[in-house]
Amino acid sequence: MRTAAPKIGQAFSEWMVAQDHHKDHAAATTFRFSGVMGCSRQLGYLAAGLEESDPMDGSSLAVTAMGSLLHEDIQSAIALRWPDATFEGKGAVGDLISGHYDVDLPEDDESIEIKTVGAYKFDLAIGLFRSPGKGQPARLRTDGGKGPSLAHICQGGFNAAAHGRSVVRIVYVSREAVSVQKAQEAGLGPIDRFWAEWTFGREVWEPLVRAETERLAKIRALVDEGTLPDRSDLDDKGKPIKINPDTHWRCLYCSFAHRCKMDGPGRIAIPRLKLVAS
Ligand code: SF4
Repeated sequence: MRTAAPKIGQAFSEWMVAQDHHKDHAAATTFRFSGVMGCSRQLGYLAAGLEESDPMDGSSLAVTAMGSLLHEDIQSAIALRWPDATFEGKGAVGDLISGHYDVDLPEDDESIEIKTVGAYKFDLAIGLFRSPGKGQPARLRTDGGKGPSLAHICQGGFNAAAHGRSVVRIVYVSREAVSVQKAQEAGLGPIDRFWAEWTFGREVWEPLVRAETERLAKIRALVDEGTLPDRSDLDDKGKPIKINPDTHWRCLYCSFAHRCKMDGPGRIAIPRLKLVAS
């Protein structure tokens, strides 16, 4: 019988919340590589140093921790195969933005980002129809799928720029492997069931990094003037779109969601926000 309350899960969730999850910034910069191509308003809240209204709960922290644990083992495997590889190195672009790479591989002139993703994102990225319908076999799209998100390529690009690397390698590790049967139907190999990699040269990541650097500089200038940006996100082609916190997917995970709903749309003066939040 399924229990009414998952007591072990509840204990784990509470334990996760009680742990110290603070990670130092790589440098004293306004923004972090891990937050690139995010919502302008959210970046404005961060730049203004405002307190989060919705910090991560135990469930979100546990899911993040699964990725971190996996990273440690993947790094061990890389270190064994490529002894010159380094991990979690700090980098910065001026005083605007900084972060840590996952892996730096000098032998191949690569900066590597490893992302643990859910099955939905993984399938979209590789173009897999895992469950196309009753009686239909799993299959791959002929166009190869959407590939990794622009935000992940851009994050890798910032690390590559900060460390003088030419190639960005994005690794997606799915939290849910494709079943053996469906992998056979779609023609996926054993590793492809839960793992995919892409590489991108400067011609791809440099324009993303340039555009994002300009956008972040504008957000910081606005915040320096005492104003927070409007609610605006970038779509999967990198074009700005207005968003509604009641309906946009990103807002469900936003650590400023309640504050943002309370503050309303448009550009907002920072002093008024601080007053409302106190
Ligand atoms: S709730 Fe949505 S619109 Fe508001 S700051 Fe967060 S991501 Fe941006």
